[in-house]
Amino acid sequence: MPIFCPSCLNPASKDAKFCAYCNAPLNVEPTSAQAKALERASQSRRYVSHGLIGFLVGAFIGYLLRPAAPFVGQLPFGTVITRGSNLEGLDQLLVSTAESSFNYMLIGAIIGCVGLILITSALSRNRIEGSGTVQASRIESRSAFPKSVELGYTPEQVEAALGQPEKIINLGSKMIHVYSDMKITYLDGKVSDVQ
Ligand SMILES: [Zn+2]
Repeated sequence: MPIFCPSCLNPASKDAKFCAYCNAPLNVEPTSAQAKALERASQSRRYVSHGLIGFLVGAFIGYLLRPAAPFVGQLPFGTVITRGSNLEGLDQLLVSTAESSFNYMLIGAIIGCVGLILITSALSRNRIEGSGTVQASRIESRSAFPKSVELGYTPEQVEAALGQPEKIINLGSKMIHVYSDMKITYLDGKVSDVQ
């Protein structure tokens, strides 16, 4: 795991005692607030890098799909990126094609950038919801499992599953433990009835 300066969040070398950026001491574990800030920082770095990738890929696809001029075909990149401002003489007839080719690139870049940022945010939302679901099902299985009480269980086994009873009625060989939602009868120290 890379090490980060706890105060300025810049990457730091593992052996360094002080941050090379802000001189803060590095032998401190980041607090949870700083860990959250780190997570936010890496999240926004992810948005920026994915947005940039989407921008470039979209621009490239838009460039490949650019319209062709009659007789000339698709215009070269230098003409497209300058929107035909370097065209001279009769070539100036191609300015509108150069402009619409540039717009293809621009629209492709915008679609790619926005699209990848939306995908990134959807994925990170899924990750957060996913970990929430795992936690919920863990809690559920923890509380669902111990509810089972079987005939022949000792009071210790039942208490391990259900906890302490609310009331204990002791009648010698017969004993009744009352819980909020059930009543367990023991005969000679074993569960004989559950109500
Ligand atoms: Zn620092």
